[in-house]
Amino acid sequence: MVATAEPTTLADWTDLAERVTPRTGVFIDGQFRDAQSGETFDSVNPATGELLARVASAQADDVDAAVAAARKSFESGAWSKASPAERKRTLQRLSELILAHRAELALLDSMDMGKLVTEAYNVDVPSAADLFAFYGEAVDKINGEIAPTEPGNLALVSREPLGVVGAVTPWNFPLDLAVWKVAPALAAGNSVVLKPAEQAPLSSLRLGELAVEAGLPPGVLNVVPGLGPSAGAPLGLHPDVDVLAFTGSTETGKKFLRYAADSNLKQVWLECGGKSPNVVFADADLEQAAEMAIFGAFYNQGAVCSANSRLLVEQSIADDFVADLVRRAQEMRLGNPLDPSAGMGAIVDESHTSSVLGFIERADGEILTGGRRRQVDGRGCYIEPTVVSGLAPTAELVTEEVFGPVLAVQTFRDDDEAIAMANNTIYGLAASVWTNNLRRAHTVAAALRAGTVSVNTVDALSAQTPFGGFKQSGFGRDLSLHALDKYTGLKTTWIRF
Ligand code: NAD
Repeated sequence: MVATAEPTTLADWTDLAERVTPRTGVFIDGQFRDAQSGETFDSVNPATGELLARVASAQADDVDAAVAAARKSFESGAWSKASPAERKRTLQRLSELILAHRAELALLDSMDMGKLVTEAYNVDVPSAADLFAFYGEAVDKINGEIAPTEPGNLALVSREPLGVVGAVTPWNFPLDLAVWKVAPALAAGNSVVLKPAEQAPLSSLRLGELAVEAGLPPGVLNVVPGLGPSAGAPLGLHPDVDVLAFTGSTETGKKFLRYAADSNLKQVWLECGGKSPNVVFADADLEQAAEMAIFGAFYNQGAVCSANSRLLVEQSIADDFVADLVRRAQEMRLGNPLDPSAGMGAIVDESHTSSVLGFIERADGEILTGGRRRQVDGRGCYIEPTVVSGLAPTAELVTEEVFGPVLAVQTFRDDDEAIAMANNTIYGLAASVWTNNLRRAHTVAAALRAGTVSVNTVDALSAQTPFGGFKQSGFGRDLSLHALDKYTGLKTTWIRF
């Protein structure tokens, strides 16, 4: 489906939604097919509770077929040995096709997991397109090396594609997080088997189809929708997968390390959870800090790995700052994700809604605003933006990832205490600092143990900069040219003359 005019109203989006036909098969060797078992799982729109599609539930035999197709395509050289110019053109065509199907892809993600369609349309889909263009451009610009060895020797260091890459992705930014893996893996010349999250597989299935339309040889990108234990585990355990790139929870990430150890020692790259602190000093631009604290906590219904879900605010300004924050949270309008005037959409499914509400019910603190489940037009999974204070440093809401619209507020007295509190976590994905003092900005940013520190903004990221964490947030880096390191092996060739 290609939208002819830019959709701008709820009526436009509703009309387009009726014309979207989700792809539902396992995508192997350029073709959709049923799962060999014939099993399916339901894709339900969390905003309405309506069934969107019955999607093939891939099992180990389907994963085997997908890995075999990927291996065959890799060995054929149709992509792995294609000229850099051809690989670049194909990825650029895919980038253009993604933009041509911008509304459709935005709708698929929005209906699958409840995000605001305008955010998917304005941010997620263009970012996915840009990333294929970015890695497409990189294909013919990255050189090998000649090492400075003794005379009479020539030591060439080249980057080789690694073979079959398994990519396992989460539901919160379904299209983008798939592309964060797939684009650099393909640019490096690998073949890929993508296992999207069962909560939101539809945009990944469409991506597989668009890639073939762009000219990617069949079998180079395969997509196996299915559940974690029945489709993700066989991919993680597969003896013919060379690299497994994972984004998801820390708990599942640990399983992939075990799968690799129990199978073929495949390389595993993990991008896992977070509990990112947002540290606000009294000398900051407090108006902007409050606005962005709301964004950092509640964007995408709080389902952001690097969500700023812990607010650390300097004690001297805490009362006024938190009152302002509460007022802003109360102004956010929960709404139909297809309604461009909505401020926050739906929670991905019933099970996650219960999980988030469980954190709120168990919270041993004061709920300053929110905390309740809501419906829109009498249906759907929605939770009010929730702000909680008065929590002990060991409280569950301070230490554990909720992955929903719940902000834990704490106060600090000075820089040292702020740094200690911010770093007191098993995670290390992101952190934000608000201050107009240059020296403080640098010293605090340097002391924070996080893969990305944003000063006077939150959650900054771009295609050009690496994204990933320290500690139990994982160790892989997505985005930027550094991501290519995960999908290439260095090979040294010595020539003696
Ligand atoms: P999840 O760990 O439940 O699932 C992620 C993927 O792993 C899904 O495809 C799922 O089917 C699969 N999976 C689940 N159990 C499995 C098993 N036993 N064996 C094999 N595969 C299995 O995570 P989620 O709920 O989809 O996503 C939320 C998590 O993702 C949060 O922790 C969030 O912080 C994290 N995340 C991290 C980043 C990052 O870049 N660091 C980005 C987005 C999300």
